[in-house]
Amino acid sequence: MKIGVLALQGDFAEHRAMLARIGVESCEVRKLSDLESVDALIIPGGESTTIGKLLTRYELDKAIRTRVERGMPIYGTCAGLILLAQEIEGSTQPRLGLMDIAVVRNAFGRQIESFEADIPFKPTPERPVRGVFIRAPIISKVGNGVEVLSEFDGNIVAVRQGNLLATAFHPELTDDERVHRYFLNMLQGC
Ligand code: GLN
Repeated sequence: MKIGVLALQGDFAEHRAMLARIGVESCEVRKLSDLESVDALIIPGGESTTIGKLLTRYELDKAIRTRVERGMPIYGTCAGLILLAQEIEGSTQPRLGLMDIAVVRNAFGRQIESFEADIPFKPTPERPVRGVFIRAPIISKVGNGVEVLSEFDGNIVAVRQGNLLATAFHPELTDDERVHRYFLNMLQGC
């Protein structure tokens, strides 16, 4: 099993460090040939407008959509979540648009652009996960096939739709491996 981490921009190194700690092989995905050898993809946090433009420039967007149609799982954190959304409120920026959700970028407002909180995560009912929110989006709408995995302050902050997982927060910036382990378990089913 090899996990690709999209490495066009953003905190891909932290995702790779998390995967290494769990003992899973990973590689950086920057071009089409990198994508061919991976079993799943992580889209990191960063700047969704930049990552979206680069996805188009390197023709990775089409290739990723094709792989997802064939069952490849994706986990998107923060900017990664934004890129997975079909609808980005008030924006026409390039995206993958694979999940039946709408998102609001930078939804927690300027004065608290970044914060941490313990948040419930449905797949880990034993104790909450530490949510690191950095200029984070919220999920404002979900379609029928979308499972809500986490809500914080009345806002949806984690969802799953089939093989696609997305969180508004950054588990890769904590010591808690459980969200990544949950994603890796999704690979078993495909
Ligand atoms: N605010 C960023 C965006 O809209 C996302 C921030 C992040 O990934 N931590 O793309």
